[in-house]
Amino acid sequence: MPDSLWAATAPSPASCPPLSGDRFAELGVVGGGFTGLSAAYHAAEAGAEVVLVEAAEPGWGAAGRNGGQVIPGLKLDPDNLEHRFGAERGRRLVDFAGAAPDLVFELVTRHRIDCGARRQGWVHAVHGRAALRLEEDRMRQWQARGATLEMLDRNQVAAVLGTDEYIAGLFDPRGGWLQPLAYARGLARAAQSAGASLHGMSPATRIVRNADGWRIATPSGNVIAKQVLLCTNAYTDELWPRLSRSLIPVTSYQVATEPLSDELRARILPKGHVSSDTRRLLSYFCMTPEGRLVMGGRGPIRESERREVYAHIVASMHKLFPETSNARVDYFWSGRVAVTLDQLPKICELGPGLWSGGGYNGRGVAMATAIGRLLAKCAGGAAADSLPLPPSKARPLPFHGLRGLAIGLAVAWKLLLDAWEVRRR
Ligand SMILES: Cc1cc2nc3c(=O)[nH]c(=O)nc-3n(C[C@H](O)[C@H](O)[C@H](O)COP(=O)(O)OP(=O)(O)OC[C@H]3O[C@@H](n4cnc5c(N)ncnc54)[C@H](O)[C@@H]3O)c2cc1C
Repeated sequence: MPDSLWAATAPSPASCPPLSGDRFAELGVVGGGFTGLSAAYHAAEAGAEVVLVEAAEPGWGAAGRNGGQVIPGLKLDPDNLEHRFGAERGRRLVDFAGAAPDLVFELVTRHRIDCGARRQGWVHAVHGRAALRLEEDRMRQWQARGATLEMLDRNQVAAVLGTDEYIAGLFDPRGGWLQPLAYARGLARAAQSAGASLHGMSPATRIVRNADGWRIATPSGNVIAKQVLLCTNAYTDELWPRLSRSLIPVTSYQVATEPLSDELRARILPKGHVSSDTRRLLSYFCMTPEGRLVMGGRGPIRESERREVYAHIVASMHKLFPETSNARVDYFWSGRVAVTLDQLPKICELGPGLWSGGGYNGRGVAMATAIGRLLAKCAGGAAADSLPLPPSKARPLPFHGLRGLAIGLAVAWKLLLDAWEVRRR
């Protein structure tokens, strides 16, 4: 595992020896993040013989590096989803996305996963007046569907976050927090207990169709399976080029302070909320159970371990919480997020019995867990119509090779808009 606060504090991993020789299975899973682990768990629990191969170790990718914020819903609002997918399918998708955190917390409880999970709610902190109007509208849309979201005014949001940088905050009680690598390792154990075989240090190097299904080749053996799930998301390589070109991998960066004093802990996120803000280039932050403030945000598109790339995240932290200016920063780490052009996650049928899931646009703790369960259903023969998210084709994005340039321009533009909106409020 790369160095991070989560790697330093998670319980030890389950034993996942490399694949050795040929293994026949009903379901082969490639990738051991939340998507792959949830799929392996749910398929094994439903009685399937499952073999999962992971290039490094379960949780090595975004699953073991993220902010741990369990966020309900998708980037797109309920009305928009119902408009795009039609009233009935859209409503099912809205329900599915709104309930995704329930699945996470149920799994944690059922399998006694030791990951510090808490459900104090997520606050979408509002940076400007235009964003406030959108959040008010979003709140009404969810309330009309029975969710108990609430708008916090300037004073209330300052009290729950411990900063007066925001003009309001949309509080969503369905959200929460967990230590992400600990959760991934707990899911791995749950999948193994349900009967799935998990193999680390087993990168899939090729997938070829054969008479009975598919053969997944790794350096030390093959998985021969009727159905295969590609759960490699932002870390998808040339294994399935159409898939990697359908997603835009961007890097997100995080820092964690030393444990803060009791006085600071009583002021910053005192009730255990987690938060991300409404800026186009957002900041997100949480307090860990041991009192470290974790702050995340943008940086260079390609992963970089240079300390300078974290400077603006530390600067944002000091701006939001000036009392942390003297706090030591103990951890710096990054990971890849898979972004899609329409901001929707994707389930793709890449070939007969070959599926992929990903593209959570930075909201994958809950969504990847829920999509993993859907993929298990796909592999189990569920009709496409029964799924809340319709399967789509993996469509390579035009000019994918120039994405670095395009993202660079988009970032500059978004920074300008964010700064302008903050000045106008
Ligand atoms: C810094 C950061 C902060 C984030 N914060 C949040 C947050 O607070 N809340 C939230 O909801 N979401 C957040 N996200 C997004 C979330 O982490 C992801 O959406 C989620 O982890 C995706 O899970 P996954 O299983 O699909 O992919 P991953 O966890 O990335 O797993 C993919 C796995 O596939 C493996 N793999 C790749 N190629 C192969 C191969 N050829 N053979 C075998 N294995 C292979 C990789 O090693 C990797 O382990 C954040 C992401 C990052 C990077």
